[in-house]
Amino acid sequence: MSADKKTKTGHKKTKAGERLTKIMTDYYVDLHKGANKGKFVVWGAIIIPAELLKGFDSVVFAVPESHAATRAAKALGPMQCEKAEQMSYSMDLCSYARIDIGTAFDGGKGSPTFGLPKPDLLISNNNNCSLLVKWFDVYHREWGTPHFILDVPFCYESQKKKDLNYIIDQYHDLIRILEEMTGEKLDMEKVQEALNYTNEALKHWKRFISFAANRPSGITAFDSFVQMAPILTMRGTPELAEHFKFLADETEERVEAGIFPIPNERYRLLWDNIAPWHQLRKMSSRLAKLGANIVSASYTYCFGSLEGNFDPYHYEGSDPLWALARMQNTTICPTGLGLRCKAMSEAIERIGIDGVVFASNRSCKVYSLMQMDQQKYISEKCGIPTVMIDVDHADVRKYSEENAFLRIEALLESIGARRAGA
Ligand code: SF4
Repeated sequence: MSADKKTKTGHKKTKAGERLTKIMTDYYVDLHKGANKGKFVVWGAIIIPAELLKGFDSVVFAVPESHAATRAAKALGPMQCEKAEQMSYSMDLCSYARIDIGTAFDGGKGSPTFGLPKPDLLISNNNNCSLLVKWFDVYHREWGTPHFILDVPFCYESQKKKDLNYIIDQYHDLIRILEEMTGEKLDMEKVQEALNYTNEALKHWKRFISFAANRPSGITAFDSFVQMAPILTMRGTPELAEHFKFLADETEERVEAGIFPIPNERYRLLWDNIAPWHQLRKMSSRLAKLGANIVSASYTYCFGSLEGNFDPYHYEGSDPLWALARMQNTTICPTGLGLRCKAMSEAIERIGIDGVVFASNRSCKVYSLMQMDQQKYISEKCGIPTVMIDVDHADVRKYSEENAFLRIEALLESIGARRAGA
């Protein structure tokens, strides 16, 4: 956009923000209504092939990780975590798991969505971490709910053909189990249709996050953290595709009109790790006062891209199971250091990043363990300042705002010093 356009502050809730509240409320209402009418309830991990479930009219889908994040964003994380801790679950376990276990065994109390309806089938995978499998096993043990575990090979390079076939074989097992348990035959045409909606939605998602490249940025990473919720719960639906088109269109219009979240943007940062759900408003406001904007995040640019890539993945074929197996490697956690560094280097260059905040997450060890090596690589390869701060994505008891900002302010000083010396 041209530099002479007048900027205005854009802190009012956007129409897409209002729309998001509505579609997420509708999602939870429909979920409970469906369960009350006797629909078959699946609880799934975030990256299981949700589109496959759309091939069954009788199935509704709930995502405990997303539900836990919603609690954390509403400052209910510690209260729900403590319920699990009182049941002897260690404070060292992932806070999503503690929130979810605490909520589930307290009958959904303390949850604005009244918890999740009890599951008929649990589907987890070891893509992101093995803790998640053990977490779902708690419900399997306590309630006797069958638990299907997808075994997804870790990627140090592009997914191998044998790994792809291995995943497809497991999908066939899952389809057989779902058909037996629901008494319904899978409709593959509906799966293909769901996949088309997901692809359309992810195309617009990528368009939305691309406005980070504008100067000043058209978005903050905090916008993307909030808006990502339906990617986890509503994949394979027309509502998701429509919503992300609306979001991207509205963002484009705002950029064209010169409306930016941080008009006086002086520092353009990238965030590595899960969103600090309990700090969204506080952190973004404090950064804004410093003229800093976290414009992008690995946590949200990874959606729609395959391992190590920043660009979106487009599937041209006609086999939905093939595409869904390929898409099992779209996130950060199941990929090795080389691939994570490749995607991040690309993001830094494309978006124009001045510095990186590596958020070492007490809960998510699998996201955090490689960060020191990644930080070293990014500092050397991209030649930009970086910093490591301590967070927990959902348990505020493990976060110190002052410690975090001491380091973030040091990062901003390094960026300033680098510019002065350039
Ligand atoms: S440890 Fe990380 S990947 Fe595993 S469930 Fe928690 S947030 Fe998800």
